[in-house]
Amino acid sequence: LQAKMSKRVQARRLEGTEKNIWVEFVKLATTYSTVNLGQGFPDFPPPDFLREAFERILSGGNHMLHQYTRGFGHPPLVKILAQFFGKLLGRELDPMTNVMVTVGAYQALFCCFQAFVDEGDEVIIIEPFFDCYEPMVKMAGGTPVFVPLRPKAPKDGKLMSSADWQLDPAELASKFSKQTKAIVLNSPNNPLGKVFSRQELELIADLCVKHDVLCISDEVYEWLVYDRKEHIRIASLQGMWDRTVMIGSAGKTFSATGWKVGWTVGPNRLLQHLRTMHQNSVYHCATIAQDAVAQGFQRELELYGKPDSYFIQLPKELQQKRDWLVRSLDAVGMKPVVPEGTYFLVADISEFKSHVPDVPDSDEPYDSRFAKWMVKNKGLAAIPLSAFYCEAHKNNYSHFIRFCFAKEEATLKAASDILQKWKQEKSTP
Ligand code: PMP
Repeated sequence: LQAKMSKRVQARRLEGTEKNIWVEFVKLATTYSTVNLGQGFPDFPPPDFLREAFERILSGGNHMLHQYTRGFGHPPLVKILAQFFGKLLGRELDPMTNVMVTVGAYQALFCCFQAFVDEGDEVIIIEPFFDCYEPMVKMAGGTPVFVPLRPKAPKDGKLMSSADWQLDPAELASKFSKQTKAIVLNSPNNPLGKVFSRQELELIADLCVKHDVLCISDEVYEWLVYDRKEHIRIASLQGMWDRTVMIGSAGKTFSATGWKVGWTVGPNRLLQHLRTMHQNSVYHCATIAQDAVAQGFQRELELYGKPDSYFIQLPKELQQKRDWLVRSLDAVGMKPVVPEGTYFLVADISEFKSHVPDVPDSDEPYDSRFAKWMVKNKGLAAIPLSAFYCEAHKNNYSHFIRFCFAKEEATLKAASDILQKWKQEKSTP
């Protein structure tokens, strides 16, 4: 079989999943962790109104909701998404052509790369990045081109913020070429929690317009922004609507990652290609989950901007959890980078290095060895930051680990207790 494949096609098959960070770390967390702040999912329930909607649908009289619905998105859901995002973008959206529902944001991403990226195309990815972008670009036959966010030292002994990680404008511009088909933007960014500023987005937008490049805008954490920061949609900037696909997730929006309902919003000229991909791959997403998410958005549209809105409540609660984890990490000397958004933060492990036995001459990035040791010996699961860098850059930032703080108070407290105890052991000669 190998002999029948060209080198390029073989590269698209990639290495298999053994080397995948999630396969490896989810297994480690399941085997060893007592406290899991690794993978990104809440350990608290979705809001009552969403669960009640699901239960009502399940036990209600409309048995047709157990059957197939429209393949490109259940009509009530695409209608409310068009209304909701139309309001946010200040433009009329057609539910049938400007919105498509997907099996989570993950499938939306896969559809985008398959639909737009061909052999010879380059796709710019900003590091650190949600790890699946790289293999997905390669599976479509494209070449990922990486550009890093570069950290600047914070002023006056302050904690570093995710805003201190910035693109170098000249370096970013140098990555755009005739081969560039698309750039992937993820704001708020997983893993740093960076919320791109208007100025940063304008820089990206100008380059996209100048080089006729598409923007795949992964906005799954759009509601999770703190300290009155504003999430700006790049599609709302001059010249960008026509070249942007916005991607969202009910998993992140309504704290229900297992439902796997996601969506894309964009111009028909782009979405028509996503529909082809969707039609010929998964075709359809679970009807009941789509109907319940539609009811969730209906409620949120009515409460938009009001204190009872979940999109106000959730970030308020998460900001408290963020602050609590920031304080606990700071107190033990695992310096956190304070995130402006998402439910992740990365923390500097340098001060703990001498207390973790090391494997000399290992090719594996240090943070990965550290995170494995930590889960096996302390029962605390986190994800190494190097997992969010391409192979060539993995060792550039290998003294941070990522924690997820979308967790119950008791879970965060248990994590803090582990770190406190570890710190005490560290200081006892
Ligand atoms: N994009 C980013 C940046 C994510 O962090 C995730 C989930 N971890 C996804 C997309 C996938 O979202 P979903 O669960 O809706 O498929």
